[in-house]
Amino acid sequence: MKALLSIDYTNDFIDDNGALTCGEPGQAIESAITRLTREFIENGDYVVFAIDKHISGDKNHPETRLFPPHNIEGGKGRLLYGGLMAAYEEFKNAANVYWMDKTRYSAFAGTDLYLRLKERGINEIHLSGVCTDICVLHTMVDGYNLGYSMVAHEKAMASFNAVGHEWALGHFKNALGAEVV
Ligand code: ZN
Repeated sequence: MKALLSIDYTNDFIDDNGALTCGEPGQAIESAITRLTREFIENGDYVVFAIDKHISGDKNHPETRLFPPHNIEGGKGRLLYGGLMAAYEEFKNAANVYWMDKTRYSAFAGTDLYLRLKERGINEIHLSGVCTDICVLHTMVDGYNLGYSMVAHEKAMASFNAVGHEWALGHFKNALGAEVV
């Protein structure tokens, strides 16, 4: 059984006016990530929207000293971007679609993702979203340590950092044993 993890494709990370935007590289994958996500949902596979959530003015969060405020709970910046938002709206009540708040880079950190996948007998995870070299990377490192088979969909991933993006794809393949497609 397999699942697709759709990571952080929100206005703050993608839109020109986003608080921590990838900009053009992020916008360029809109149709690819939307198509991939629809394909998994329509095929009946489990799809997890793993979305960063921050509280305004949170002094204790480690990202506070690293990045400007982003993906604030209840804000427009935390909504999915463009076509992916439309796909989510269409399928959000489907039994195989799960919106999961996360507060760290990895979708496994402090969430019930492992239990959700375990309950469904899922041992293969497919990755998409942003940023390739931050939240996708940390999720894949945890996925590697937990023993999942992993597939990284490179045309449905992006970063503000072109060098980091390329490095991460190589790392997925060469160090984490993932298939990069
Ligand atoms: Zn964050």
